[in-house]
Amino acid sequence: MAEETLFSKIIRREIPADILYQDELVTAFRDISPQAPTHILVVPNILIPTVNDAVAGHEAALGRMITVAAKIAKQEGIAEDGYRLIMNCNQHGGQEVYHIHLHLVGGRRLGPMLA
Ligand code: C5P
Repeated sequence: MAEETLFSKIIRREIPADILYQDELVTAFRDISPQAPTHILVVPNILIPTVNDAVAGHEAALGRMITVAAKIAKQEGIAEDGYRLIMNCNQHGGQEVYHIHLHLVGGRRLGPMLA
């Protein structure tokens, strides 16, 4: 059993976050340390620690993460200009929180993807 992260507490609204969207599968909230004018995290409500742990049973939540990100991008007014969706995995991917999350980043022209 994987250990919960603070994202589970955000999903259960036990600690504060700027939640923009929540349904039975996913939750979206503003990143606490934004790297761009728009920086939002979309997370599955259930704990999936990394992309390596994703299985077929998670596909509804994983698919919903993308459609919710697209909806929020439109709401934020960044859909036309464009944005980036990023999911980091483990140390080499730069993952810090072990509850998978899709970064929705935009609101400015982004630099090269790989650093
Ligand atoms: O992909 P990675 O695991 O590195 O991203 C974790 C993200 O979670 C960071 O962008 C960080 O700012 C964000 N975070 C947050 N709220 C917290 C802790 C981390 O939005 N309380």
